[in-house]
Amino acid sequence: MITFPLFPKIRRWRGALFVLALVAVSCFLSGCASLRYYNVTDFDTVVVDPGHGGHDSGASSRGRPRLLEKDLALDVGRRVAAKLRDAGFRVVMTRRDDRFIPLDQRAECSNSYRKSVFVSIHFNDSVRRAPHGAEVYHNRQGTWELAGRIEDFLSAMPGSERRGVKTARYRVLRKSEGPALLVECAFLSNPGDAKRAASAAWREEAASRIARAIILQRRQ
Ligand SMILES: [Zn+2]
Repeated sequence: MITFPLFPKIRRWRGALFVLALVAVSCFLSGCASLRYYNVTDFDTVVVDPGHGGHDSGASSRGRPRLLEKDLALDVGRRVAAKLRDAGFRVVMTRRDDRFIPLDQRAECSNSYRKSVFVSIHFNDSVRRAPHGAEVYHNRQGTWELAGRIEDFLSAMPGSERRGVKTARYRVLRKSEGPALLVECAFLSNPGDAKRAASAAWREEAASRIARAIILQRRQ
């Protein structure tokens, strides 16, 4: 007769295995619950996050005048925030002046608002001078469409080019539980992009396009 020596042991431990399975499933579900899956058109708050600040200047242009990413990001962020407020959104800025805010604190700010979209504003850098144009990163929380629209609008600006929507393990994107985007408006390492970014009119136009993409996303 064939015997299965393990079976009695499994039967003996069946209760414990059942409890373990229950614990595993509940841990998995509570982990999922911490992520706020909802339709990304259903948001009333935008957390605008001007990148860098204080001792963290971010990227800088090569020529004169020397442009600092932290200053440009704050300027564009303020312009985006003003336009979104005018459109009726509740807008929260992670920084309003030249100060350093830790990355986790920025994401926590976003996580403290229900139905929010987090938009981090940056300017890009490369060791080569050639790359130019806007890039938009997102954290896959239903954000592909909004990221695509912002990229569409920014890449249509004169001198820009289509670089595509991307995902990356940037800390602010990973730590944000809701929809989160990171917009690289232009490359400060590219002379043409840097010259355009130095103009307040260009930054106003870039901010208008970012804000318009967000407004259109909610109204779909
Ligand atoms: Zn940056």
